[in-house]
Amino acid sequence: MSNGKHDVIPPAPQAALAVAGSSDLFPVHRIWCVGRNYLEHIKEMGQDEREPPFFFAKPADALVPDNGTSPYPSLTKDMHHEVELVVALKSGGRNIPVDKALDCVWGYGVGIDLTRRDLQIASRNMKRPWEIGKAFDGSAPCGPLQPASKIGHPSKGRIALKANGKLRQEGDLAQMIWNVPEVVGKLSEMVALAAGDIIMTGTPSGVAATVPGDKLECEIEGVGKLIVTIVEPVN
Ligand code: MN
Repeated sequence: MSNGKHDVIPPAPQAALAVAGSSDLFPVHRIWCVGRNYLEHIKEMGQDEREPPFFFAKPADALVPDNGTSPYPSLTKDMHHEVELVVALKSGGRNIPVDKALDCVWGYGVGIDLTRRDLQIASRNMKRPWEIGKAFDGSAPCGPLQPASKIGHPSKGRIALKANGKLRQEGDLAQMIWNVPEVVGKLSEMVALAAGDIIMTGTPSGVAATVPGDKLECEIEGVGKLIVTIVEPVN
């Protein structure tokens, strides 16, 4: 609206995450994800554990809040859950040194990198991009953020996901191959990171199929919880 210019369509709503214990919001700019970061998950996916991590992205409007619902997506017959530590940035930059990376972190949350596994693997095998497997509507449930000023910077602690009360995924943040400062540093070599960016930092082993009706309950020790329900597809 500045300089006499008018939007020709209404602007999209600003994506945001809740801040735990408050009515404040954290406005989300972009969602980055680490492709592989826990040894046992790399093994279960049949991949080479010595390769460096790589990154992909999801649209910010794929976020689903705590106690929300995620509709089963189109085209897939094998959607998987991946519980992950989410890092929320208050500042960014290029080529951030590892020893300065935590200065960019505003806080942490619990998220799920929902994945159309069949389409992801088909894309991988055809050497095509991963978007169809990773970047779909409702693919990024994320719980309320806890400020680092309150909880510090967790480098260890149990990370777990239950489906309908049954334990599916369990690990420890200490098992991350690339820790949070290293992830921020590596990612900032690829793009100029910015305030509002969030990063899903990879999943421990135990990924499995999830279907409409499933209640997914996630927890990271010292960080928080996330509950999301998978519902019938949108027609
Ligand atoms: Mn993931």
